Amino acid sequence: MKDLKIVKHFTTITKHHLMVRKYCFSVGLYRQGLLHDMSKYSLSEFLVGCRYFQGTRSPNNAERENRGYSSAWLHHKGRNKHHYEYWLDYSAEYRGEIVGMRMPEQYVVEMFFDRIAASKVYLASSYTDRSPLEYYEAGKIKFLHDDTKSILETLLNKLADEGEEAAIAYIKADVLKKK
Ligand SMILES: [Zn+2]
Repeated sequence: MKDLKIVKHFTTITKHHLMVRKYCFSVGLYRQGLLHDMSKYSLSEFLVGCRYFQGTRSPNNAERENRGYSSAWLHHKGRNKHHYEYWLDYSAEYRGEIVGMRMPEQYVVEMFFDRIAASKVYLASSYTDRSPLEYYEAGKIKFLHDDTKSILETLLNKLADEGEEAAIAYIKADVLKKK
């Protein structure tokens, strides 16, 4: 039983990694494509992932419920720049307040691809181009910088209304060109 969870967790994270890699490569983000979520293979994250493997949602949620916090997630978000949580820091204007810093465009793009891939893996055949937008709208993230929010929402809406090809074309022609 335990061996099965190891295999299943390994398969899930590898499938996810390869999917995001393909998307990143399609817009020329080669380094990010190769490195996406690699910390999931570190012992601190991998062992927790196996132990709490569920198949239908992130094992971090299960660890969080069980322990009161997710050690794997805290390890993960501190090392992976495509998570907006990586960019949380004290505001320079409002003393003591924690805010989302402006994310460089290439990481917003990787976050967008991460959301597509995660939705595809978890929803399987019920996935549609609207799924990532619906997931985002249900989540109500408080800590996104206005610029980050604007790019992410534009991409999610483009995907929902016009499909993947249109979103990818827009990333190449617009989002990554502005740098
Ligand atoms: Zn990640």
